[in-house]
Amino acid sequence: MSKSTANYRPETRLVHSGTLRSQYGETSEALFLTQGYVYDSAEQCEARFKGEDPGFIYSRYSNPTIAMFERRMIELEGAEAARSAATGMAAVTTAILAPLKAGDHLVASRALFGSCLYVVQDLLPRYGIETTLVDGANLDEWQRAVKPNTKTFFLESPTNPTLDVLDIPGIAEIAHKAGARLVVDNVFATPIWQSPLALGADVVVYSATKHIDGQGRCLGGIILSSEAFIAEHIHNFMRQTGPSISPFNAWVLLKGLETLGVRVRAQTETAARIADVLASHPKISRLVFPGRADHPQAALVKKQMRGGSTLVGFEVKGGKQAAFRVLNELKLAKISNNLGDAKSLVTHPATTTHQRLKPEDRAALGISEGFIRFSAGLEHADDLIEDLTAALEKA
Ligand SMILES: *Cc1c(COP(=O)(O)O)cnc(C)c1O
Repeated sequence: MSKSTANYRPETRLVHSGTLRSQYGETSEALFLTQGYVYDSAEQCEARFKGEDPGFIYSRYSNPTIAMFERRMIELEGAEAARSAATGMAAVTTAILAPLKAGDHLVASRALFGSCLYVVQDLLPRYGIETTLVDGANLDEWQRAVKPNTKTFFLESPTNPTLDVLDIPGIAEIAHKAGARLVVDNVFATPIWQSPLALGADVVVYSATKHIDGQGRCLGGIILSSEAFIAEHIHNFMRQTGPSISPFNAWVLLKGLETLGVRVRAQTETAARIADVLASHPKISRLVFPGRADHPQAALVKKQMRGGSTLVGFEVKGGKQAAFRVLNELKLAKISNNLGDAKSLVTHPATTTHQRLKPEDRAALGISEGFIRFSAGLEHADDLIEDLTAALEKA
């Protein structure tokens, strides 16, 4: 077992938490690329299967490299337990589906990542789990959606792509009064800027594919919560159904955590500078950046987040044609649907991530034809600003 690093600050935990050093005393965490484990004796093997000997059994269940990644995330997030998964969607689907059964009811904010929306809107009802979608920023809607069989509330904050910030403590209170749990997808905030468990959420999920890797290499996900929730709802479900992460990907993500703090801080500073330039640009009709005083939930951002965002949302005057022109003119920022990368990435949500929605649903979410989501990378802020302003000149 690694020593707890709970008395250290987050930056220190990102580098040291969870390290399991082998008999070789390696500096960098070892990659245990193994499916299984061998036993000294039949007796030891029996004891391990009975849970009386604490070693590893099979990498679908657990693995030393995966255990290091989970422990580092646990100590960073202030959770009691965690289980990692092959992708962010494997983590989200497990966290939502595993504890529910036919006849249960889930309430979710309407502003969700496309695949999350598929899980709550299309998949759950097929198995007899009712769902209600609400305007996440409106606490009365959450309250009105509660039914006697409501078991789970689910939200993302800041939301994708319009970067609205939802009141996590307020929504947690409504959930708990109704006897339901709150699951928060914290991808956009990152563990650096927001700690949902400390704000009252019961479960936090991440796509580690985004900032945790942060360099565009691996898919991965993780569920963090209390020991009781993992033991009761997640542990056995994941062992038996197998959405397990590869030890190789867990190793990449573990090493990604070492630089998460410096990357997210630098990318947020760059995003803030871009936001300030675009806010007064004549070709921009709307700008959203959590951290600016003109953000629609600026007070809430101050209350529940430690920093802004690595993302900036803005609307170009002239609709889809103007937005496409900007995307095509950009030299540095790459057109992609991904985010949180060292390379700046730019997305047109209306025609990509949110294409599946009906036009009226897109409009209700504030995703206009001219709306662009910009994920700030690690390039020099001045180069990105010059790239953006040159592209806007031509729009
Ligand atoms: C990307 C993303 C996911 C899904 O993660 P994958 O690793 O791509 O499966 C879930 N939620 C949010 C908010 C995301 O941005």
